[in-house]
Amino acid sequence: MSRGRNYKGIEIFRVAAAFLVVAIHTSPLASYSSTADFIFTRVIARVAVPFFFMATGFFVLGGESARKSLKKLLCIYAASAALYLPVNVYAGHLQSWGLLDLIQQIFFEGTFYHLWYLPAAILGLLLTGSLLRRLGERRTAAAAIALYALGLLGDSYWGLIEGVPVLNGAYNAVFALMGYTRNGLFFAPVFMWLGYRLRGGGRCAAGYEAAGLAAGFALMLAEALFARSQGWQRHDSMYVLLPFVMYFLFALLMRARGRVSLPLGDFSLLVYILHPAAIIAVRGAARVLGLWGALVENSLGHYAAVCLASSVASAALLWLWERIRPRRVSPTARAWLEIDTAALLDNARRLQGFMPDGSRMMAVLKCDAYGHGAVRSALELNSAGFDAFAVACLAEGVELRRAGVKGLILILGYTPVDQWRVLRRYSLTQCAVDAAYARALSVAAKAAVDVHVKVDTGMHRLGEDWRHTEEIAACFSLPHVRATGMFTHLAVSDSMDAKDVDFSREQLRRFFALAEELRARGVEPGALHAQASYGILNYPDARFAYGRAGVALYGVKSDSADAVSAWPELRPVLSLRVRIGLVRELPAGEGLGYGLEFTTSRESRIAVLPIGYGDGVFRCAMPGGAWAIVNGRRCPIVGRICMDQLFLDVTDAGEVKPGDVATLIGRGGGETVSCEEFAARCGTITNEVLSRLGKRLPRLWM
Ligand SMILES: *Cc1c(COP(=O)(O)O)cnc(C)c1O
Repeated sequence: MSRGRNYKGIEIFRVAAAFLVVAIHTSPLASYSSTADFIFTRVIARVAVPFFFMATGFFVLGGESARKSLKKLLCIYAASAALYLPVNVYAGHLQSWGLLDLIQQIFFEGTFYHLWYLPAAILGLLLTGSLLRRLGERRTAAAAIALYALGLLGDSYWGLIEGVPVLNGAYNAVFALMGYTRNGLFFAPVFMWLGYRLRGGGRCAAGYEAAGLAAGFALMLAEALFARSQGWQRHDSMYVLLPFVMYFLFALLMRARGRVSLPLGDFSLLVYILHPAAIIAVRGAARVLGLWGALVENSLGHYAAVCLASSVASAALLWLWERIRPRRVSPTARAWLEIDTAALLDNARRLQGFMPDGSRMMAVLKCDAYGHGAVRSALELNSAGFDAFAVACLAEGVELRRAGVKGLILILGYTPVDQWRVLRRYSLTQCAVDAAYARALSVAAKAAVDVHVKVDTGMHRLGEDWRHTEEIAACFSLPHVRATGMFTHLAVSDSMDAKDVDFSREQLRRFFALAEELRARGVEPGALHAQASYGILNYPDARFAYGRAGVALYGVKSDSADAVSAWPELRPVLSLRVRIGLVRELPAGEGLGYGLEFTTSRESRIAVLPIGYGDGVFRCAMPGGAWAIVNGRRCPIVGRICMDQLFLDVTDAGEVKPGDVATLIGRGGGETVSCEEFAARCGTITNEVLSRLGKRLPRLWM
């Protein structure tokens, strides 16, 4: 579950959290000091389970993987229930088969007391997920906080209400059903929501987060010791300050980015599940070996032994699983796209830095982020603090929102007005393609839909004619349309020819004149935007609320011949690589491929690559067409490109064998084939090349 995620800090902390849970159940300092033990196991270690809930909220909630995670949790819960069934029978836990007991055990306590986390995670995920879907984020937050507050009164603050008969009765009814309040209903939702929220990125500087964590923790310690001294605690999982501590802790952990190759998530889950069995095993071993004093009576020795035993058992199970698990296709088996996360984020920051103050970078993620992968790109940008996105169509917008993307999502293209419910449901902002569209939308919709009004200032694609001030003004006072912005698109901003510059300036003049005119009439046009990548780069003095960065965000120009007045060190994000399938020797004078179009002029070595126009390598990139890099040498593509295969002349590339990697776009061994060059050989612009890189190519986020 945890592999392939780019949050090293969170993955590593999973293991620490698992050992903290073991501490809660073994009290490592009990032999030495009851206060020290309380502080360690009932305060410090209390971050462990909320951390797991937050990680679930962060990675899973609202995303496409929610169902998969739920299924996995259910399977694990069923397996652990089966594992501990004999223990339960032996310990006499299952003597009572009353309905209440069964409900309590299955839905709240876990069929083995220590495993309450599993039903809590399942219930919490179901509950928080459906709250988010039904109520939206703010009301979910309110509900989760309210539930946590109710839970607190049945946990660390029980002493405050125990003497109030009504409350006492109500809570005892709850306890009859659930045993405690630290469960999936009262405890999990607030942390899952916090994790979900943090996916939008930490909002303050690391220093503040560290200070917040330190202060929050000190206060929580005081709170815990006070509640304990007052004898209020019926249980000691929940503190007022715990959510604050968790927020800062998690925000800090999020900052450590990078891939972890070990399956730490699965390891920590196994440690959690197996540690009760490890306790039993350690006791048995201690008795047999005559080490009862060191391994059981000494609390620290006991803790160490249990940690060791559960780690060894977990590692062994993972090793076994690695051998028997179902095999998936390796993403690098054939051909793949490498996406450089750091380059994407750097480009976003550089573009933002290049824009005037008050102007924000709107990431254009249409056509699956120009082939880079829209969901992942948006989530990465979200984490880095960017919160404005544009897509081409409704389905693209919905996909981003369902994956948990926060902020403005503007649909640049046409959407039928009868889809207004979908627009509202996913808080999408629609482009009003002209004034008639805005009116039709307002008639169709039963409640307000957000739009940005598109204005045609000369390109004559989408938009209402800029001279129709009256009609445009009317878009801002329709009953079921909430116009929060206005935009236009420049037709020739990629050219620095004098007449094109004049035309772009005229488009901008028309747009600003319209905005002025609207304001003069008392209509506030909201967020204004006009520039795409080249507009941002070539007209940096124009002040707008947003700049819509597409191709530049991906670090390439549309065409290498394009004149840009600035290029703030943007670098390419995407590389296209493919494994060589076969290498053959051909004598001079042999034709090859469909139509025998290419004839060898010398004794040649030809590599056959399992990639073709079906993957977006244009068939027209011929003859003598695009070059690919093998062994740091540029090798020409020869012959006709097929749907799934192409030929590469590797005669001059030294030793080449099947399985070697060829680079079609990107750097390889000191050589580079830029996307611009690749596009030029296909007779098109990079925008088209990138947007057509096929669905058959898996993406590897580096
Ligand atoms: C595609 C598009 C953009 C982004 O264009 P780039 O040239 O790739 O930056 C911006 N605005 C609109 C309306 C678009 O359709």
